[in-house]
Amino acid sequence: MMLEGRIALVTGGTRGIGLATARALAEAGATVVLTGRDEAKAKEAAAAAGAASGLALDVTDAKAVSTLVRGVAKEHGKLDIVVANAGIMEDALLGMIREELVDTTLSTNVAGTLHTVQAAARAMMRKKTGAIVVLASIVGEHGSAGQTVYAASKAAVANIARSAAKELGRSGIRVNAVAPGVIDTDLTSGLTEEAKAENIGKTPLGRLGTPEDVANAIRFLVSDDASFITGQVLGIDGGLVL
Ligand code: NAD
Repeated sequence: MMLEGRIALVTGGTRGIGLATARALAEAGATVVLTGRDEAKAKEAAAAAGAASGLALDVTDAKAVSTLVRGVAKEHGKLDIVVANAGIMEDALLGMIREELVDTTLSTNVAGTLHTVQAAARAMMRKKTGAIVVLASIVGEHGSAGQTVYAASKAAVANIARSAAKELGRSGIRVNAVAPGVIDTDLTSGLTEEAKAENIGKTPLGRLGTPEDVANAIRFLVSDDASFITGQVLGIDGGLVL
């Protein structure tokens, strides 16, 4: 029970990596609040993950993020762990990129992560301790054909972690990113069998990742076992070379 007594918040926790992370943190003893865009789904997911509560939150809404994070910290007396997981991915070749895709991707992945980290930092500052993890991607580190918008957004997410870590270290707050490879979730369910086989072929560990692979790494990063680790972008990709 390495996270006993800790208060944790996971955004986009209704499925996939967010749901697995909420479950992993709860199993490690943390009191977990998970959020989703839909309140009913968030409550259902919270029950399934052993989380304390499930709340509605759209991370593109800065004011809503700030209000919710402040509310969680107030209700539980503190906030120790925040996982800014909510994100979207839509592929488009350069010539096919619509302005709407740019807007939705950047407002969810970049601004949404920024709002969450900002609110988390404010809530953690009072106790001068805390751990934040954001969801970058192998695509953000190396680029990927047909994923220019998503790659740009995830490069930005990685640099939110690197920059916030520099700013918040003296306040006792650690900020890290995980950069998953191809993880088997709804986000990647559109991949053809051929595309999945191609990715597996390029992965030394010879399989796609599971949400639990990512959740276990996040649980480590927010625990005291990672107490001297900040500003890092940890690849969780089975060795995949893009
Ligand atoms: P998913 O689509 O299964 O889950 C994403 C979650 O984010 C959902 O709960 C969704 O409702 C939520 N969400 C989306 N927009 C939101 C918004 N505006 N406000 C609040 N919640 C919102 O995806 P996943 O595979 O579990 O991905 C989780 C994170 O990991 C994402 O940031 C994704 O970019 C990142 N990631 C995933 C992979 C992968 O291969 N699956 C690889 C690298 C990074």
